[in-house]
Amino acid sequence: MAEVDLQHVSKTYDGNIPAVVDVSLTVADQEFLVLVGPSGCGKSTLLRMIAGLEEVTDGTICIGERPVNNVPPKDRDVAMVFQNYALYPHMTVQQNLAFGLKLRKLPKTQIAERIQQAAALLGIEELLQRKPRELSGGQRQRVAVGRAIVRKPAVFLFDEPLSNLDARRRTEMRRELADLHRRLEATIVYVTHDQVEAMTLGDRIVVMNEGQVQQIGPPLELYDHP
Ligand code: ADP
Ligand code: ADP
Repeated sequence: MAEVDLQHVSKTYDGNIPAVVDVSLTVADQEFLVLVGPSGCGKSTLLRMIAGLEEVTDGTICIGERPVNNVPPKDRDVAMVFQNYALYPHMTVQQNLAFGLKLRKLPKTQIAERIQQAAALLGIEELLQRKPRELSGGQRQRVAVGRAIVRKPAVFLFDEPLSNLDARRRTEMRRELADLHRRLEATIVYVTHDQVEAMTLGDRIVVMNEGQVQQIGPPLELYDHP
């Protein structure tokens, strides 16, 4: 089953050269799909269009078979994790985790239950009453991932989630994300410019260049034949 389907998707920001040009691709259920390519090639734009944070100039996006071009971000069955974590600084970790669920009017008991599960999964139970400024970079990133997990979305979207971490934490979080992907049986679209991340995490890798898909395939297939 296709969780995400893009058909001839293009994006041109006002008065600029096209950022994404006629991209068609399908993300399978439980697939870990990684988008790579040089800075400015359109990775983020593509991800943000799936999230609904940017409008599509042309083409169609479906999530779980449902066309979403006109569906606002909040009502798409996706959760996004940002490079800069995007946590609310005035809220505790617990409040940050609860926010998106309250917004969607989930019952309190379910919110509490989901936060407990996610906190246990990510090993952040001890941090629930802290504010983001009282956390390390790695801990903040865990909370950002937790905020996505509690939503139980059909699709997780990651935009360079590890690039603000030091090398040791990056390796550690990379392993955790691979582990989470298995345990949650999650469907993931993941943007990075790091080839090691792409190789170790991706079931398939999409290589983008100047807004277009240049290559697509499993890691070994791509990097064996440069
Ligand atoms: P990547 O994520 O691969 O670095 P982006 O999707 O951020 O690439 O950018 C693709 C192209 O679109 C670049 O030329 C960039 O300058 C342009 N772009 C990105 N965001 C905007 C924006 N909000 N307004 C205008 N142009 C943008
Ligand atoms: P979710 O859809 O997972 O519930 P949120 O409601 O937390 O996500 O966030 C919705 C939007 O608000 C996102 O686009 C996110 O980038 C933005 N956002 C989240 N936290 C902050 C923040 N501290 N400052 C500015 N924007 C934020």
